[in-house]
Amino acid sequence: MPATGRRRYFRGVNESAMTNQDQTAAAPAAGRGATLRAQGLTKVYRTGEVEVHALRGLDFVLYESELVVLLGPSGSGKSTLLNILGGLDKPTAGHVYFRDTELTGYDERALTRYRREHVGFVFQFYNLIPSLTALENVALVTEIAPAPIAPAEALALVDLGDRLNHFPAQLSGGEQQRVAIARAIAKQPDILLCDEPTGALDSDTGILVLEAIERVNRELGTTTALITHNAVIAEMADRTLLFGDGLIVEERLNDAKRAPREISW
Ligand code: ADP
Ligand code: MG
Repeated sequence: MPATGRRRYFRGVNESAMTNQDQTAAAPAAGRGATLRAQGLTKVYRTGEVEVHALRGLDFVLYESELVVLLGPSGSGKSTLLNILGGLDKPTAGHVYFRDTELTGYDERALTRYRREHVGFVFQFYNLIPSLTALENVALVTEIAPAPIAPAEALALVDLGDRLNHFPAQLSGGEQQRVAIARAIAKQPDILLCDEPTGALDSDTGILVLEAIERVNRELGTTTALITHNAVIAEMADRTLLFGDGLIVEERLNDAKRAPREISW
């Protein structure tokens, strides 16, 4: 596990905009591989007679150990993409690759294993088990993971080392979300997918949650994608992808990452 601070790959690179077709050319600095890659992703939801085109041939790359923010209006396809990347949903067409293997070729069993071993999810709502303590909520996941970190260590990483034996009802919303982050990262996933993790929190509490995500990304090197509709959060990212109507319409490289504490909204 790389404990040292990771390199800032985009230092000195100016902000640039590009079209969707150019995305695969968004090469990282030397030597960094893609953890996840999507090509020509289409997702059509059919409800009765109505078809919703949630993704329209989207291309996407998530490089190893980077922190990417996905921004865009409601309904632009952000959650759909994240769910497909995390193996929770399947595209109508297109391909997703996790490192060298094609995820879109997996059967249900392989997808379950992929989720269990490689992906950590954090959603807007914490989904903690009310009758279990913070420590027990995290331990539930580490018991079935092949190479977990200790639950207490995961909770210390999100600054909850002194709340191990609290039940969810005894924790604030921000603290519960940090337990959810500890639960997501305790199995040492390769990828952390966060869908509006601060959506239900006030600004001060949201910053503590973002600090926890940033610290996991920096100290464990966990490749992270973070959906938000709050544009200022992009300041903590290596890269920001702007969504519009089922496509990525712009990419911004951040040459001056800021700590969550320096961001306010
Ligand atoms: P975002 O996360 O950017 O707000 P979503 O990916 O959730 O957008 O949704 C994209 C589009 O797909 C929206 O128009 C939404 O209504 C539609 N959609 C999402 N999930 C479903 C579903 N399970 N069934 C039908 N339509 C859906
Ligand atoms: Mg969404």
